[in-house]
Amino acid sequence: MQKDERTRSIGRPRGRETDPATLARLRTLLADLPRRRDLLIEALHRIQDAQGWISAADIAALAEELSLAQAEVFEVATFYHHFDVLSAGVQAPAALTVRVCDSLSCMLAGAEQLVSGLQASLGDAVRVQRVPCIGRCAEAPAAVVHHLPVAPATVGSVADAVAAGERQCPVPQSPDFDAYRSQGGWQVLQDCLGGRLAVASLLESLEASGLRGLGGAGFPTARKWRAVASQPAPRLMAVNIDEGEPGTFKDRWHLERAPQQFLEGMLIAAWATGCEAIYVYLRDEYAGLRALLERELAALPGRIGPWYAAARGGPIAMPALHLRRGAGAYICGEESAMIESIEGRRGMPRLRPPYVAQVGLFDRPTLVNNPETLLWVPEILSRGAEWYASQGRRGRKGLRSFSVSGRVASPGVKVAPAGITLRELLAEHCGGMAPGHELYGFLPGGASGGILPASLADEPLDFDTLAAHGAFIGSAAVIVLSQHDAARDAAANLLAFFRHESCGQCTPCRAGTAQALESMRSAHWDRALLAELSQVMRDASICGLGQAAPNAFDSVIRFFPHEVAR
Ligand code: SF4
Repeated sequence: MQKDERTRSIGRPRGRETDPATLARLRTLLADLPRRRDLLIEALHRIQDAQGWISAADIAALAEELSLAQAEVFEVATFYHHFDVLSAGVQAPAALTVRVCDSLSCMLAGAEQLVSGLQASLGDAVRVQRVPCIGRCAEAPAAVVHHLPVAPATVGSVADAVAAGERQCPVPQSPDFDAYRSQGGWQVLQDCLGGRLAVASLLESLEASGLRGLGGAGFPTARKWRAVASQPAPRLMAVNIDEGEPGTFKDRWHLERAPQQFLEGMLIAAWATGCEAIYVYLRDEYAGLRALLERELAALPGRIGPWYAAARGGPIAMPALHLRRGAGAYICGEESAMIESIEGRRGMPRLRPPYVAQVGLFDRPTLVNNPETLLWVPEILSRGAEWYASQGRRGRKGLRSFSVSGRVASPGVKVAPAGITLRELLAEHCGGMAPGHELYGFLPGGASGGILPASLADEPLDFDTLAAHGAFIGSAAVIVLSQHDAARDAAANLLAFFRHESCGQCTPCRAGTAQALESMRSAHWDRALLAELSQVMRDASICGLGQAAPNAFDSVIRFFPHEVAR
């Protein structure tokens, strides 16, 4: 190639030039992956999976292959924690990575000692990395050897897993398509396509059932579906399985046990709202679930495509199905950030309005649902709205799947009536507190939902009921603290998480989480500073991360003042 006498090759863009050998290797890796911008993160996964890191030469080659600027590829690759981007002078990581969760439930169970023990025992050939919640809080402390979860983890069990050489997460065993169908599954979708269930009566049933979005916001499902269906076609659907809220693991639990029911609910939603393509966005930590969903999604057109072709009133196009893999960014659980990520960009929340129901994925009206919400749809429609609505307590409707962890005798997912109190949840579903522990406080809604004292254990746990206490249920991740724990330590752990996961787009969140954490790590909290930070973060942050992060320290100051007294 010609060079002019100053700096660059003629006919080439400025910047780092593409290495022919790297480009050839990349083309082999990408194989049949379409060369589209929205598949940038999928392409980065292929590079990371194949060699364990992404070099500057890889970024240059990928930019050329996708006709993108190198800066665009670089900013996306460096946004996500699961990509190891080698900057100049940075050494490639060890061939094997062990990730140890250092979020609250795992810290309560000894993650700190686990990290130091592993660092001392595994040697330089293994990288031990502290990571945020990996969704295995009921078996804390949890670690992942490459993609293989080890939970509960000890230095010995992780070392054994490293030595055994198994690196992949097993595919969960669950009732398959035929088994689900033999129990009456898929019947509701067939009724929809066969003209036996009309959209209007389906929506009336969902409305009467009181089904709400179970990802955290609790928006009424029927209302959301109506809002999307009223928008102009083409409409799209996205299923948010990012489940990154520390303490939350109920989506994984449900999907590993009832994937067919989820898929049926998803297709009913797409049919009722006229969505022509579905994007399933799955967090990268759920490798076993990913293998399961990849297999089942690929098989679906062959299994149920004929039902669409024979639909009453003429053939209907079955929605196109896409599975997209997250890359380790909590903020992508925020719906507009997830949409950015599906489009192959950094997961930065969008300003609203417009709402994603109007302008969402690829600028089209988009229905975004949590997978557990969808999972309940076929059951509600086959058992009746009254069945679901009657499950609640204290005037609430329906069931909630509580992810319970911390100091309880029997942690795990507890499917319980909406409106149950913490005290009832512990007694009826968790076998009480763990031996030697007494209830001191609890987080009703993961990292974002605040920390409440034991004196509020008789409050109903549901949407809208905890706001008076500066808390919310969110995705129903309940973490229980005992007299051996300090609420201030729990809050500092949560702020460290938020600081790490802030996308950095707005100053109140980016700087506020860092400043708050600094104050919280001192013996005496600067309450005036924290109050000021809380106000500005709530008022001026773009999305829920920055707006809810102050719940952690505000609730300690309000309910546990003796821990932070000056
Ligand atoms: Fe990003 Fe935080 Fe702003 Fe949300 S509040 S957009 S996470 S910087």
